[in-house]
Amino acid sequence: MSFFKVLKKSKKSKARLGLIKTPHGQITTPAFLPVATQATIKTLSPADLKEIGFPALLCNTYHLYLRPGEKIIQKLGGLHQFMDWSGPLITDSGGFQIFSLGFGLEHGVGKIAGYFPGQIKQPINPVKPKLVKIDEKGAEFMSHLDGSKHYLTPQKSIQIQEALGADIIFTFDECTSPLATKQYTRQAMERTHRWAEICLKAKKRKDQALLGIIQGGQWKDLRIKSAQFISQLPFDGLAVGGSLGKTKKDMFKILDWVIPEIPEEKPRHLLGIGQPEDLNKAIKKGIDLFDCVYPTRLARHGTFLTPKGELNILNSSFRTDKKPIMKSCSCYTCQNFSRAYLHHLFKAKEMLGPRLATFHNLWFIHQLMNKIRKEIKSDKF
Ligand SMILES: [Zn+2]
Repeated sequence: MSFFKVLKKSKKSKARLGLIKTPHGQITTPAFLPVATQATIKTLSPADLKEIGFPALLCNTYHLYLRPGEKIIQKLGGLHQFMDWSGPLITDSGGFQIFSLGFGLEHGVGKIAGYFPGQIKQPINPVKPKLVKIDEKGAEFMSHLDGSKHYLTPQKSIQIQEALGADIIFTFDECTSPLATKQYTRQAMERTHRWAEICLKAKKRKDQALLGIIQGGQWKDLRIKSAQFISQLPFDGLAVGGSLGKTKKDMFKILDWVIPEIPEEKPRHLLGIGQPEDLNKAIKKGIDLFDCVYPTRLARHGTFLTPKGELNILNSSFRTDKKPIMKSCSCYTCQNFSRAYLHHLFKAKEMLGPRLATFHNLWFIHQLMNKIRKEIKSDKF
């Protein structure tokens, strides 16, 4: 059974339709994976997610390692049983959270991917993260929960992910800040390459697919070097991670450099990106998989996704608005509730507000992905 198969290539772009097979079911690509940070999509139940139609979810190793701990989850039957999700699950390696928490606090950059620090004028020195201590073997970091010290290595990240038991796991990588120098980004990339080889050796379970992560920041030579290095290793798929430059334009340039270096028969994941317009463009550049907290985080702040852009329900113009969020949307939220009611829920800080918003935003993204897959199939994308 091969892990991934390209079913169709678009005649109009580099987009493709593919199929990922896992022990817990299939994922038709291009696919968006909602992020279940703490083994839950905040406010929704697995039944809600099945109603929306998502085949697979991504959980965060960093958070589950710190709480409740991978050993507890393993004892309780693994992540699928623990969170009652029968479909495919993916875990990241923990690298992103460790490093982004480190330099995020130092550089004032909340996140590497997803937010682009284009407005920051001069590089901030030193560029090496201080809150995280990195050496050749791994990274020492402080828990954001209780300040306790932890040391994560590539071996340990794989062991944790094997204990959690997701169907697709990632290599442990060092994510550099978008403000890091080229010299530091190169060092971190080379270390990430050595860690990638260690992850392959450390992996024992045969029923999990392992994806390698391409680093190299915003530099063309580094990105190409990293894509070539990671591509020649026996990974089941590849991911583009780390700092994707200072603007969205940089990000798409990076994809243009990297994609031609990745073998066609392997799935390509773009880590942490998920705005509707970005999904569209990145799929045209050949990306198969996405994960992002964007639609769910936005929802909890009262922002709804629509074809015309983001709609913030807290705006006072919605106080007496009888219309649904979107007339053309057949989700539970749009079928049953007015903008005025949703405005009221958010104003009154009622829990149902974020829940109805999350349901709609994920429905919206799922419908968008369905449409894209259909268009690739009929050569209209
Ligand atoms: Zn809706």
